[in-house]
Amino acid sequence: MVRAEQVCKNFGALEVLKGISLDVDPGEVMCIVGPSGSGKSTFLRCVNHLESVNAGRLYVDGELIGYREANGKLYELSPKQAAHQRRDIGMVFQHFNLFGHRTALNNIIEAPIRVKGVSKKAAIARAEDLLGQVGLSDKATAYPAQLSGGQQQRLAIARALAMDPKLMLFDEPTSALDPELVGEVLTVMRTLAGEGMTMIVVTHEMGFAREVADKLVFMDGGRIVESGVPSEVLSNPKQERTQAFLSRIL
Ligand code: ADP
Ligand code: MG
Repeated sequence: MVRAEQVCKNFGALEVLKGISLDVDPGEVMCIVGPSGSGKSTFLRCVNHLESVNAGRLYVDGELIGYREANGKLYELSPKQAAHQRRDIGMVFQHFNLFGHRTALNNIIEAPIRVKGVSKKAAIARAEDLLGQVGLSDKATAYPAQLSGGQQQRLAIARALAMDPKLMLFDEPTSALDPELVGEVLTVMRTLAGEGMTMIVVTHEMGFAREVADKLVFMDGGRIVESGVPSEVLSNPKQERTQAFLSRIL
């Protein structure tokens, strides 16, 4: 579902991604961990072409992301074409990024109606279903500010799912939450994984990584330092940098 081949990204002289290669199979969950500044968010943003890569290639479901290849050369897609690719990729952010002036229900129906041309009636029916799935059936008319952080993040997940994505990207979805609200968001994510959603999750929740992820990737300094089955990487990290990082957060 996702293939990264030697992905490099610079911001001016700053090399943020220095050759990231990885594969995520359909239905797999990959967790990415690593210190702040190691390029995790940038990598996720490249996967849905919120950032363009400087070298290397990214594919989602076999489709080259952000570029068109012709005669061995790459041409960047227009914003409209990139937006079209992005429709199939859901993203959940640390700070929820909800529409503050819209109710929970209206947060969910906006994109399906505007981007996909779904009828309002169908969008509402689906949104009610999704609100139920994330445990927010009674919050359809609430505004984001009236919801707890955990509820807001569950709403953000429902909003992403409303576009029927084939891939979900999570960028530290529980990092901004009070500790007692982390579990309810992870529960929704665990259910989603159990239903076969392909997911890349940047997180420091090692319990979740160990239990739910098929693959764990440890990034540092724009490189993949170590990767493998979570239980193995977590119990028996081979690289010194992985050991040092894990000893700080576990
Ligand atoms: P992480 O998510 O692992 O904490 P990021 O991908 O956010 O790391 O950032 C990696 C590096 O790239 C950091 O040094 C950050 O300051 C830099 N960076 C990220 N986005 C930009 C940007 N738009 N412009 C310039 N530098 C950026
Ligand atoms: Mg980040």
